Amino acid sequence: MVSGLSGIGTVLVANRGEIALRVIRTLRRLGLRSVAVHSDADAGARHVREADAAVRLASGYLDIEGVVAAAKASGARAVHPGYGFLAENTAFARRCAEEGLVFVGPPPPAIEAMGDKIRAKATVAAAGVPVVPGGAEPGDDLAEAAARIGFPVLIKPSAGGGGKGMLVVRSAGELAEAVASARRTAAAAFGDATLLVERYVSDPRHIEIQVLADTHGNVIHLGERECSLQRRHQKIVEEAPSPLIDEETRRRMGAAAVSAARSVGYVGAGTVEFIVPGDQPGHPGYFIEMNTRLQVEHPVTEMVTGLDLVELQLRVAAGEPLPLAQQDVRMRGHAVEARVYAEDPARDFLPTGGRVLALAEPEDAAGVRVDSGLFPGAVVGSDYDPMLAKVIAWGSDRAAALRGLDTALRRTTVLGVTTNIAFLRALLADADVAAGRLGTGLIDQRLDALLAAAHATGAPPDEVLAAAALVLHDELSGGDDDPWDVPDGWRIGEPAWTTWPLAARGEPVAVRVRGLPARGAEVAVGDGPPSEARVAREGGDALVTLDGVTTRYACARDGHTVWLGRDGRAWALTRHLPGDPGDRAGAGLAGDGVVRSPMPGTVLLVKVVPGEAVTEGQPLLIVEAMKMEHTVTAPADGVVAELTARAGRPVDMDEVLAVIRAPDAGASPEATETGGS
Ligand code: ADP
Ligand code: ADP
Ligand code: MG
Repeated sequence: MVSGLSGIGTVLVANRGEIALRVIRTLRRLGLRSVAVHSDADAGARHVREADAAVRLASGYLDIEGVVAAAKASGARAVHPGYGFLAENTAFARRCAEEGLVFVGPPPPAIEAMGDKIRAKATVAAAGVPVVPGGAEPGDDLAEAAARIGFPVLIKPSAGGGGKGMLVVRSAGELAEAVASARRTAAAAFGDATLLVERYVSDPRHIEIQVLADTHGNVIHLGERECSLQRRHQKIVEEAPSPLIDEETRRRMGAAAVSAARSVGYVGAGTVEFIVPGDQPGHPGYFIEMNTRLQVEHPVTEMVTGLDLVELQLRVAAGEPLPLAQQDVRMRGHAVEARVYAEDPARDFLPTGGRVLALAEPEDAAGVRVDSGLFPGAVVGSDYDPMLAKVIAWGSDRAAALRGLDTALRRTTVLGVTTNIAFLRALLADADVAAGRLGTGLIDQRLDALLAAAHATGAPPDEVLAAAALVLHDELSGGDDDPWDVPDGWRIGEPAWTTWPLAARGEPVAVRVRGLPARGAEVAVGDGPPSEARVAREGGDALVTLDGVTTRYACARDGHTVWLGRDGRAWALTRHLPGDPGDRAGAGLAGDGVVRSPMPGTVLLVKVVPGEAVTEGQPLLIVEAMKMEHTVTAPADGVVAELTARAGRPVDMDEVLAVIRAPDAGASPEATETGGS
C-alpha cells in the first residue's frame, strides 16, 4: 500500500502522555507530520501542543471509531498506537486496515495469538520454547490445576497487562477469593474474565528480549532488558544489558524469542518476556508472554544499540526491509530507566493525584534522556495510568549508568503531586541493586529499609518544617486583617511569635516564627531552641538560611499547603486547623476510628452494613482506581457506626468512608461530625 517512509506523510498518534510525545519526537525528526488526539481533560496537554495538529476525541482514547475518524479527517496515512489503550486491540488494527490506514504494529492474527496468554503459551510451546507449568480455563478447573502444580501458584488474567489482577495464592483455602478478585479485575480492566494459573517461581528475574521483524521474512533480536525490580508485578526500574546474562545465554534466549515471533508471523517491534529462576543463572528462562507493541522500557535498548525503535516500526510499517541484520546489532555500554509514578510509597504505593505546581526535569543531555508528559499546571487524576515520566541514563558501564541516573533523579522535582522519586533513589542505592543481584521479590523483601532510606515515613526533618513555616509566614501573615496572622504571645518592644501547626503525615508539629523572614526572623520547631532565619526568593525557589546555613528548595504553595522540594524529595506541609485528621485532641476519640479512602478512585464493593461488629483488619470495602483494587480494613475492633461509602460512587483521597467505634462507646457527636466532613 505505502512504499517507504515518505509515502506515509502524516501519522496520527493514538495515545497521550510521555509515549505520545516520544513518538511525536521521532516523527518530527523524520520529517513526518504528527497528529495528536486528546480527551477533554487533556486539551491543554503537552502532546497536544507539540504535535503538528490535534483532534479532540469526544469519547476518549479507547473509542475506536473516534480515533479512526480523527485519522481520516486529519489526512493521516498511518496510526501509531503507543502502548496500552488500543495498542493490542485487534478490532482497532482491523478497522485501520479497512479504512486504508497503516496500523503501526503487527498484523491482527499475531496480536490475537499473543494478546491472550493462554493461547500464546500454547503457540510458543508448540514451537519448542519452554513455558511456565500451569493450567488454563476453560479446559482446566483452576483449583484442580493449582493442586496439580503445587502451591504457591500465580493467578493471571489471560488478557492481562501491567501486572493487573495477578495474585499469588499460597494455599488451597485462599484460592476461591483470589479467583473471584482476579476475575473482577480481569473483566473490568481487559473485558475478558478468563484466568490462567501458573507455578509461582519464587523471586525470579524478569528478562525480556526485544525483537524486530519486517514484511520480508527477516526477524532479529536486539538483546535483552532486565526488569526484575518490580512492585505488584509492575516494572519500576529496567536496564540493558542484564547483569545476569552472558553472551551464550543471550544468544539462546534471543533465538527462542525469534522462534516465538516467527511462530505467529510477527511483524514490527515486539517483546518476548521470560522469567528466569533466580538461583539458576544459566537457565534459558520460561516464556511468560509476548507484548505485541512498543514497550514502556524500550529506551534502554535504544540507548545501548543506538537505534530508534519508533523509526524502525515506521519503516517496517511502510514496507521497508529491516536496515540491519542480526550480526549488525552492536551493544555499547549500559542503560538504566526509572519510572516516575504518581504514587505514595508511604501509603502502600497507592496512586496519588493533584496539580503540578512546579516542575524541574533534567535536560536531555549526554547520557541522560527524559521521556515525560509532565508540565506545570498538569492535572494528574485517576483516569489514566499513574506513570508520569521516565528518566533514563546511559554510562560506559553499569556503575556509571546508575550514577548518572541517580544524578538525573536528584535533579527531578515535582511539586503538587506526590511521586516515588525519593524511593527510586533509595532503591538504586541499595547494595544488592548496585551489585546487580536483582529479583522480582527484592523490593518487597526490604520495603521497610527502602522506605526509611527514602524518608518516606515519619515526620519531615526539622529544617524542612522550619522552612515551610517561614514560607507560610512570609506569604500569609501580612497585615493586621490577615486571618492567618494569629499571634499567640506579645511582649512590648518585640515582634510576636506566630505558631504554625504543620502536618505532613501524622501529628502536626508546632513551628513558631517571629519577625520578617525576608529581612531576618527567628524560628523554633516544637520545643527546640530558636534559630536565626532568613528566606530569599529566586524564581520558584526559596533559599532558606538557618543559623548561617543556606539550603535551596523548590517551593510552591497551594492554599494552606507548602510544597518544598530538594534532591528528588518533596514534602507537602499543610497548616493544620483544629478538627483536621490527626488532631486527636481536637476531635476527641474520632481520629482512630475514621476510615478514609487511601486513594482517589471508586468504591467497588462494600462488605459490611451499619451496626455490624467488625474485628481489626477485617475487610470493610474495596476501592478501585486504575483498575487496581485496594481492600480497606477495619482499623480496630468495634462496630460500624457510620457507613458513607456506596458501591459505584467515586471518592477522593482521604474522603471518609466509614467510622468504626468501640462497641461500648455511645453515639458521640464528635465522631459523627468528623464522619460527615
Ligand atoms: P510494559 O509491558 O511495556 O513494560 P506495562 O506492562 O507497564 O508496560 O504496560 C504499559 C501500559 O500499558 C500500562 O499503562 C498498562 O496499564 C497498559 N497495558 C498493558 N497491557 C495492557 C492490556 N492488555 N490492555 C490494556 N492496557 C494494557
Ligand atoms: P503482565 O501481562 O501483567 O505483564 P506477566 O505475565 O508478564 O503479566 O507477568 C508480570 C510479572 O509477574 C513478571 O514480570 C514477573 O515478575 C511476575 N510473574 C509472572 N509470571 C510469574 C510466575 N509464574 N512466577 C513468578 N512470577 C511471575
Ligand atoms: Mg508482562
